[in-house]
Amino acid sequence: MISEYEFEMENYMSFEEFDKFKKFGMGKQTPFIMIDLDIVARKYDDLRNALPQSDVYYAVKANPEVEVLKLLAEKGSYFDVATIYEIDLVLGLGIDPSRISLGNTIKKASDIAYAYSKGVRLFVTDCESDARKIAENAPGSQVFCRILSEGIGASWPLSRKFGCYPDMALEVLTLAHQLGLKPRGVSFHVGSQQYYISQWREALWDTKSVFDGAYERGIKLDLVNIGGGFPVRYNHPIPETVAYGAEIMEYMAEVFGNDIPQTIVEPGRYMTGDSGILAAEVVQISQKEVGGGRSWMYLDVGKFGGMIETLDECIRYPIYSERTGKMLPYTIAGPTCDSVDVMYEKVPYMLPEAIEEGDRIYFFSAGSYTSTYCSVYFNGFPPLRTYILQK
Ligand SMILES: *Cc1c(COP(=O)(O)O)cnc(C)c1O
Repeated sequence: MISEYEFEMENYMSFEEFDKFKKFGMGKQTPFIMIDLDIVARKYDDLRNALPQSDVYYAVKANPEVEVLKLLAEKGSYFDVATIYEIDLVLGLGIDPSRISLGNTIKKASDIAYAYSKGVRLFVTDCESDARKIAENAPGSQVFCRILSEGIGASWPLSRKFGCYPDMALEVLTLAHQLGLKPRGVSFHVGSQQYYISQWREALWDTKSVFDGAYERGIKLDLVNIGGGFPVRYNHPIPETVAYGAEIMEYMAEVFGNDIPQTIVEPGRYMTGDSGILAAEVVQISQKEVGGGRSWMYLDVGKFGGMIETLDECIRYPIYSERTGKMLPYTIAGPTCDSVDVMYEKVPYMLPEAIEEGDRIYFFSAGSYTSTYCSVYFNGFPPLRTYILQK
């Protein structure tokens, strides 16, 4: 299958805006990422406008760059962290622990104790064992129970690894209550890069069943964590942020009637994805057969250098070359000595035939799940660098 997709700058930014990135990147050694904080700020504001009742907990793992965290902290964001290391990172910026939620369902007792010692009082759980560990190591803390979502319609589904079925969630929250914790509600994640807003509706009905069950047991839940999953444009059009917000609020009213709980939202990919452009260099272009066959384009960035989400060709970054003219389908691969390091082969990319070795290639919407998703010096390649765009 040949991809129909051809890059169009207007879908991402104006040529003038791109020019700023390009000039800023000149003379810098590729590969690297440039982050425009103005875009992060705009994304945050858009989401606040779309879901005005929800507190925003930025999922730090998407892009933990200090300047990004500082900006979001100034704008009033809360932070969803996965580990003690992310706790240290956030607290190190002077952010109060009351603005942190430990959202990883998989944690050691010692991690919980550490978080508690640092002042974190909000934890996500999804099983009885973890609830016991929280009760013991973070006594009296607030907990959510995460329910399972299959992630249908998501490009990067988080699958069955996290969460439990609603009937189990009720047991977990009941146990938490008995152990002296404060059960606050339910969380879910409908899958990252979720195109179908209706997935939130199903998760909210599951949430409601847990709320009702808890109410019958004398436990009043009052908070729903509607997770992340909000998409980035990549090479597919996506609904506007306001459309997500409006539809999710409609579902809330449909499901909860006039007893609408407090909500929090945990965007990761959405918040920083569009703010980043990755610049890479074309290392080599080759053909495998005499007299035909598809061209292979090897870049100085690949699966081990930050583009891990090209696994199974799940995330298809918009790729831009400044060359023009006739387009050809290319297989696109990274520079390491590992055959897994092929980014796009099943569905190739249409790029100009005029591209030459040494050219710069730009990956758009590359600000999330890239810079920290690198291997450590595999083949000796240094980690992907991030620069904050200075204007
Ligand atoms: C990764 C993660 C998020 C962010 O997900 P996105 O799809 O990037 O928005 C939110 N919440 C939790 C618990 C996560 O693990």
